[in-house]
Amino acid sequence: MLDDLKNRISHVEERIRLACARSGRERSEVNTIAVTKYVSLETTSQVLRLGLEHIGENRWQDAREKWEELGSQGTWHFIGHLQTNKVKNVIDKFTYFHSMDRLSLATELQRKAEVLDIAVKCFIQLNVSGEQSKFGLDPQELFQFAKEIKHMDRLQVAGLMTMAPHVVDPEQTRPVFRKLREWKDRLNEEMILDSTLQHLSMGMSNDFEIAIEEGATWVRLGSVLTGHE
Ligand SMILES: *Cc1c(COP(=O)(O)O)cnc(C)c1O
Repeated sequence: MLDDLKNRISHVEERIRLACARSGRERSEVNTIAVTKYVSLETTSQVLRLGLEHIGENRWQDAREKWEELGSQGTWHFIGHLQTNKVKNVIDKFTYFHSMDRLSLATELQRKAEVLDIAVKCFIQLNVSGEQSKFGLDPQELFQFAKEIKHMDRLQVAGLMTMAPHVVDPEQTRPVFRKLREWKDRLNEEMILDSTLQHLSMGMSNDFEIAIEEGATWVRLGSVLTGHE
């Protein structure tokens, strides 16, 4: 089991290196989030012991046991859709929120962060592909949304996040990742937010190499990295 995990980690590392090399990027520009939603507390603990520092979970019900045991050992990323009434459960436990996709959620994150006197790092999730099944803000609403959250002083917007459609040929996801990068560049050019967005959270097991080639700075890897139990 442990050997399987070690093998997956080194195999993924090699694929990340090659994708960086192909696109003229430094390995250090790409951060890996080990998504542990499919695996046990025990495996999550091994992931941390093997040196992966960033842990991603998408539901608090599933993450809770792991976080209570291991929360202090890593940096935790909330990557799933977040209901506004669940913000109170997670806001002080996760360092990054990857799914800020509507004003009501931003408002609640700001409100709860203010009460706790903390700042929250977040990504604006865009539904680039326009699939009905996907969460995320319509990219056409991005500038307006950015204007509305600009004054929310507890929100530190790190960048943009998207999920590509699941397709057989990962090459087909390239336009989605490219568009996310273009939206980030446009938002920065317009200088709507006070700080320049640096990050793109994009790429999962099926398509992370394409995402890296298109500029991902955070890849969120579940099955390919931590396995599927
Ligand atoms: C589950 C999940 C991932 C990881 O999925 P894999 O395909 O197993 O790598 C990444 N991002 C989000 C938002 C997820 O929900």
